[in-house]
Amino acid sequence: MIVNPTPNELRSLDHLKNQIGAGGNTINTQNTCVVAASGLSLRIAEDALQTIESIAQKLRDWLEKLDIPTPPKPPFLAVGLFSNKKPYEAYLTKEGLGGLSGSFGVTHPVRWVSLILCDPGELKEINPQVVIAHESIHLITLKSRLCPAWDAWPRWLHEGLALLGDHTADKSPPNPTQKGPMAKNPAPLANRFGSTNQDRAKAWKTTSPILELNAFLRRDLIKNPLPNHQDYAACWAITAALAEWQNGRLLQSLIHELNNLHIQFESPQSIEVFTADWLKSEIGDQWLDFTKSVRALAEL
Ligand SMILES: [Zn+2]
Repeated sequence: MIVNPTPNELRSLDHLKNQIGAGGNTINTQNTCVVAASGLSLRIAEDALQTIESIAQKLRDWLEKLDIPTPPKPPFLAVGLFSNKKPYEAYLTKEGLGGLSGSFGVTHPVRWVSLILCDPGELKEINPQVVIAHESIHLITLKSRLCPAWDAWPRWLHEGLALLGDHTADKSPPNPTQKGPMAKNPAPLANRFGSTNQDRAKAWKTTSPILELNAFLRRDLIKNPLPNHQDYAACWAITAALAEWQNGRLLQSLIHELNNLHIQFESPQSIEVFTADWLKSEIGDQWLDFTKSVRALAEL
């Protein structure tokens, strides 16, 4: 059972139950609750619960390794699972999140709950547990106050962090026929999140030559997205490189700086531009080396 739920936690659960509808499974541990729509098996809900708790632990371990502070008590996480596209899309529209139409999961930037579309017909080859892990990382980032509000960080950092770890929820055995440079050099990143996200590394290989890093860092990814998952590949590469740079100290300082900025004042610049300028000034004359280290991830 959830021990002493706060009014906010109860509100989150009521919200999910109202959206997902009656007749499904609601299961929980002390810190995590999954509300699954009718039509979804208990097994999917149980797997989701396990995925969320496992990714929460991996994220804590990773943050600890990089000396990034985490709260002593794990946050309460509430995740809803839709069984088909229609109510999921209706939910996005109703909550003013229509820009995320066509996605498979959303972390509500105000209500701080995650909702995932677990419809195999829509997901096709995508493992729903990877989507659950991805959204859970967004949710934990907010609920643990690692990030004080969704708009306190540039989108690339939110996505980059989620992409460092979401693939670890895919338990299917690697394809033995899959060949490539990754197999020769599986662990070039010291501060990986369990393992290297090979799909993103592969996508970065084709994106890196056509991406101008400076411009990307300043880009509003909601208003000006890049096609064909190039956004995600770049978010992954920049965040992975930052976790390596000075053994993560720059990433630690950046998170600290963004959180202070959010508390202190409204910046007249976009958070993307502020972060890009801050990084450039902190890295100083090593900027070229830093951009090379981001590009080098295409050689994995
Ligand atoms: Zn995301």
